[in-house]
Amino acid sequence: MPYIKLDSKSFSHNLHTIVSQTNSTINNIAIVLKDNAYGHGLIEMATLANKYGITSCFVKSEVEAHSIKHLFKHITILYPNFDNATEDNMYISITSLETLKKTQNNKTIELKIDSGMHRNGISKDEIKEAIKIIKSKNLRLFGVFTHNGFADEIGSEFYGQFHYFTEIKKEIIKLCKDNQIQIPRFHSLASSGAFRGASLNSSLPQELQDSIFRIGIALYGYCTSEIYNIKLKPVASLWAKKISSKTLKKGSTIGYGGVSKLDRDLTISTYDIGYGDGLFRIKKDINLTTKEGFSIFQVASMDCISIESTLDEVCIFDDATTWTSAFSTIPYEILSHLHANIPKKIV
Ligand SMILES: *Cc1c(COP(=O)(O)O)cnc(C)c1O
Repeated sequence: MPYIKLDSKSFSHNLHTIVSQTNSTINNIAIVLKDNAYGHGLIEMATLANKYGITSCFVKSEVEAHSIKHLFKHITILYPNFDNATEDNMYISITSLETLKKTQNNKTIELKIDSGMHRNGISKDEIKEAIKIIKSKNLRLFGVFTHNGFADEIGSEFYGQFHYFTEIKKEIIKLCKDNQIQIPRFHSLASSGAFRGASLNSSLPQELQDSIFRIGIALYGYCTSEIYNIKLKPVASLWAKKISSKTLKKGSTIGYGGVSKLDRDLTISTYDIGYGDGLFRIKKDINLTTKEGFSIFQVASMDCISIESTLDEVCIFDDATTWTSAFSTIPYEILSHLHANIPKKIV
């Protein structure tokens, strides 16, 4: 079986780097654990987050929430299925008036605002109506949030969204006071946004500040911002085990279609990971090496790959950016593709 090693020291390094870069405390850091913790393993990453003192998290579904409910004080379900039960520490994200209307009475919610990405969230002119429904259904408004989706781009949109959300907060605070509703927590910034907007956030009056940052990719060890170069350490490394070795003559071809042809006599081995495990498929002209520097032969099979190595196990990557360059993608995609059933080892 291949396996993923999770380095707890790297996780701790990332957490402390994020805390210091954002001039905050661990109480301001929430971990985003959706999509099986970006492929790292939901339970394992939740356990690490808990160990290092993180108390708020964001997951995709009720199923994810239930499996880690003992590890967090606050769990927000980003894409709830409204038929499923929740517990006292689970809050459902509400993204439209329509879903707000069908939410069961007395639930705890976090209200999502659309501040310019135009994906999910209620718009500014629907806020009054939303508060009315919240009041009439006796919902507990735990949070109001948005997603500032312009943190990675140079330009002013980031600030435009930031100020827009500040105006929304003022309106929410006023409506809550008028309706005797407790003022909710606010949050709008993910990894790159937190690096970019933390000082702006702390320059606001206390009651208008975001109280948490929703951090995903940075805690896993990647800084995807083009603007900041913050030294983080990838938490996951992917390992594969040898199936068998073979000594081949010069001119031999390897695998489907004989795409790779040896230019000398060589002993190679197959290893037990392939695109069936969620690894991207190495096709013709994709040149990658393992962490040890061994060439991986084109083309990959579903359950194995051939490598110029005879070691019992090899590290496919300890930093997904080698793969993101080869496949012109982002670490989110390489990592979240890794199958949940790959065993995890926390070191
Ligand atoms: C995925 C997600 C995040 C985390 O984003 P990163 O760039 O990984 O930090 C934050 N908030 C919401 C709503 C998300 O869906």
